[in-house]
Amino acid sequence: MSEKTTTQPEPSSGKGKGKKKNSAAPAAAPLGEDSYRGIGASRGIAIGTSYAFEKEQYEHEAKTLEPEEIEGEIERFVTALHRSEKELKKIERVTTRKLGKGYANLFEAQIMLLHDPVLTESITARIREEQKTAALVIDEEFGRYLEQFRNSDDQFFQERACDFRDIKERIIRNLHIRKLHSWIPEGTIVISEHLSPADVILLSRSNVKGFVTDTGGQTSHISLICKSLNIPMVVGLGNFSQTVESGKQIIIDGTTGTVVINPSEKTIDRYNRKRDEELQSEADASLTADQPAYTRCGVRISFYSNIDFKEELAGIKTAGSEGVGLFRTENLFIDGTKVPRESEQLNYYRDMAETIAPMPLVIRLFDIGGDKLLYSPVREPNPNLGWRGIRILIDVPEILENQLSAVLRANMHGNIHILLPMITSIDQIRFIKATLENLSAQIVEETGSTCEKPFIGAMIEVPAAVEIIEEITRCVDFVSIGTNDLTQYTIAVDRNNVIVQDLFDKFHPAIIRQLYRVISTAQKNRCPASICGDMASDRLTLPFLIGCGLRKFSVVSADIAKLKKMVATITLAETEALALECLQLDSAEKIKSRLESFLAAL
Ligand code: PEP
Ligand code: MG
Repeated sequence: MSEKTTTQPEPSSGKGKGKKKNSAAPAAAPLGEDSYRGIGASRGIAIGTSYAFEKEQYEHEAKTLEPEEIEGEIERFVTALHRSEKELKKIERVTTRKLGKGYANLFEAQIMLLHDPVLTESITARIREEQKTAALVIDEEFGRYLEQFRNSDDQFFQERACDFRDIKERIIRNLHIRKLHSWIPEGTIVISEHLSPADVILLSRSNVKGFVTDTGGQTSHISLICKSLNIPMVVGLGNFSQTVESGKQIIIDGTTGTVVINPSEKTIDRYNRKRDEELQSEADASLTADQPAYTRCGVRISFYSNIDFKEELAGIKTAGSEGVGLFRTENLFIDGTKVPRESEQLNYYRDMAETIAPMPLVIRLFDIGGDKLLYSPVREPNPNLGWRGIRILIDVPEILENQLSAVLRANMHGNIHILLPMITSIDQIRFIKATLENLSAQIVEETGSTCEKPFIGAMIEVPAAVEIIEEITRCVDFVSIGTNDLTQYTIAVDRNNVIVQDLFDKFHPAIIRQLYRVISTAQKNRCPASICGDMASDRLTLPFLIGCGLRKFSVVSADIAKLKKMVATITLAETEALALECLQLDSAEKIKSRLESFLAAL
């Protein structure tokens, strides 16, 4: 590869252009002369031609309106609101068709914002009183919120900033009666400083092969949408969009977060092979996906699905899943504005439970806060160590009780189980159990019939939970290991921070040893254990986890076929020996290399 001469992307702050250069921070990229490393936000490899997607920017005239121009300007503003609403309704319809109602709610929330009287009345009043143009007032009004949201490190506020920015640009474009620029050359890889969910949905109609953005995180809305559309995406690349123009040959690997510009023939061949192998192995594996998985020596291994929306249930059976091992209910907050009502939740959960009965549905209670979505405008200096998951549930009885009550009432088939996020103490589990008892007694009194009590499980995703795993496994019906957060909190590495991404290493001996400790303690105490973090999907770690005694894995449905195929090639004895060996190794590098050699020898 040749030496890279163009501007190098900076580590991403998730805030895009104009951010301060941080020369002290290690560079996020490049890896080689033309290779960059960002965050893999949606898996898969895309090879193609770049398309630099830039939204039109409009200058705002700072002129003072003549008195006779004022009503006309307000009229223009109202028309722009109508046009924007029409566009959003169209996007909402496309989204419902492509991805289901869950995602479409995002746009419903934006439409509601267009009708927000506080915002629209204050804009109208300012045009009238200050005699400013509508564009200028809109820019200033939205700018106030945007500034506040952008200054937050919280994922929720970043998403809100994205929504506000999208609406602002939409209304201003419509003031200029410009049509949305959303048809682009077919089959390109889109590069942009920033994309909103609406952009991704609309651009995807042009058969986009992949997306690359300067901003964004692994759990952002655009990443969830790309995952559901099966389009590879890499995000968090600093000022990458300023360095690459349209028409360049480009490769993106949404699994590793790698982007290669002007790849050599050799590199293209390598990625073509990798992509073909991945596709072939998915195709082979899917032929037998619906068969139960056994190791070569006959040990049964079960695979379940991690899902974010009920629309995903349709495909889980054909993917070879035995049920839902993790339903991330915080996605019901996807519009981020309000707590879902008990009746809404009840209908949602009941539908899901009915659809997959008798297969299990593990409902994780809202894991809001931290880097996830949040329903209230609380700002924290260090959100990942702040008010998140079980802490919010315990502090806000309304949220907890509505959710538990909906779950209890929805559990007609007895196949719903509850999973508690971010557990750090036994008292938290006891609190939830006691609340569940009370609610269940209330429901019995109200309805006269008993309700099926769900099993209660704890997420093991904070080192404190590992330390008290003996007590936890005696207190709950099952545990599920969340390796994404366990890695983040054990190594003290923010899972969404590209600057320290290389340190986010699941092969770290601390993680490997904690996994063994959790699995073996659960086994000793006859507490069923499973794993639902991303590590469960990795062919490298699967034999180690089986060797530690794990038999249940919850993964994205698309991965089940390939994992089942791999299970059929291993024996318990060899995985147990492998696990013991890895537990003796003192570095992530040695552990990874031992797991690689095991895989290569299969
Ligand atoms: C985890 O932390 O590993 C996990 C499965 O939960 P989430 O990724 O939703 O935090
Ligand atoms: Mg987690």
